[in-house]
Amino acid sequence: MSRQNYQTGDSSVENLRRTLRITSLDDDDDEEDESPPNNTTNLINRMDEEDEDDEEDEEDEMAVTIGFVEKPKHDWSLLPHLFPSKAGGFPAWLDPVNLPSGSSTVCGICGDPLQFLLQVYAPLFEKKSTFHRTLFVFMCPSMKCLLQDQHEQWKRPSDNPSRSVKVYRCQLPRSNPFYSSEPPKHNGTVKPSEVKAALCSWCGTWKGCSVCGNCKTARYCSEKHQAAHWHKGHNNECRKLAIDPQNSSSSPGKIASNSIWPQFEIVDEDEPEVDTMSENGGYATALASVSHVDEGFNSLIHSFEADADKKSSATFQERVSRFPEQVIRYCWSTRAKPLWPMSSGRPSETDVPKCRYCGGPRCFELQILSKLLYYFGVKNDVNSLDWSTIVIYTCEASCDEGVVYKEEFAWVQLPSQTSATVG
Ligand SMILES: [Zn+2]
Ligand SMILES: [Zn+2]
Ligand SMILES: [Zn+2]
Ligand SMILES: [Zn+2]
Repeated sequence: MSRQNYQTGDSSVENLRRTLRITSLDDDDDEEDESPPNNTTNLINRMDEEDEDDEEDEEDEMAVTIGFVEKPKHDWSLLPHLFPSKAGGFPAWLDPVNLPSGSSTVCGICGDPLQFLLQVYAPLFEKKSTFHRTLFVFMCPSMKCLLQDQHEQWKRPSDNPSRSVKVYRCQLPRSNPFYSSEPPKHNGTVKPSEVKAALCSWCGTWKGCSVCGNCKTARYCSEKHQAAHWHKGHNNECRKLAIDPQNSSSSPGKIASNSIWPQFEIVDEDEPEVDTMSENGGYATALASVSHVDEGFNSLIHSFEADADKKSSATFQERVSRFPEQVIRYCWSTRAKPLWPMSSGRPSETDVPKCRYCGGPRCFELQILSKLLYYFGVKNDVNSLDWSTIVIYTCEASCDEGVVYKEEFAWVQLPSQTSATVG
């Protein structure tokens, strides 16, 4: 979800750019390889600029790339070797072998395996190790867990927060064991690499660490998915497979689960410049002042907060309504700020934990909007999964230390009426 790192004249590169390009603010010329402003000076500036007062005013300044979902054009469009950005279905793991495992794969609250939400391909130029780079977002589909997660996200890392939303960053150099160092051809001729971990037959998401004892063919990430698969058809198939392992009605790699979110390709474009008329938030200000009059002065502080929320919400609505179909907003810049639906319930600088691998600061990179739930067909019921925004913070240095899939930080804002019901 960024400029492609390959620098050849190959037309397939252009194709790739068209589908995957998320540009940084300096990227007016596709053919040029400029580095995003991510040097040390900027890091320091970023820290200085973090004051609360600045936030609303600065939101509009950064060039943002917005992403939309589309049905994949071909059945091979979203394969890992084409480095897709995608939502729903199952992950196109970048490193297909060293997948997250153990507690990384389950909801910290209910213990169920996490569901794949989306991935964004976002390579960076400044380092060889980030030639390929993808962010993967998972969450528990239970709204009950997400409500609990609201308390957990405020906790310090030392308190071991139990999250129901988890983000992983994976990156590879141009020369790596899994992919050609040349740009992939977007014509369906290239077969995906055979080198990959065996995946769970039910979710197709996580490593299939255990094998069905009877047929020795079906693999599972967890007992829960083994049980689910058994009750939804494997009980019949298992016997046949035990006699003839080739006699499978489901092709290998096909996912059995029917609760996985539908699969989409994420395509993106630069958000057009904000015109100066609306930049001052005429609509937002008007809305805020009307509400102020309505509310009177019962509680000065309360109404101040409510006004701030209304203003923030109006700014958010106004900005998002220009492209109401957008599901993600992306910006790679140390000065980037998310667009908050509400001014209350935002993390302060200290609420975003430092990178657990290098100890460096994290900065905002990606924001997921609730429109995605509409495309996923999630119902609008009381207990249905819902959020206002999910904001992803990643290591500013995109460091190489530690495990292959590095856990990053997600901050979730729920719709106000939902969060009001939380203890
Ligand atoms: Zn859960
Ligand atoms: Zn599974
Ligand atoms: Zn079996
Ligand atoms: Zn780091």
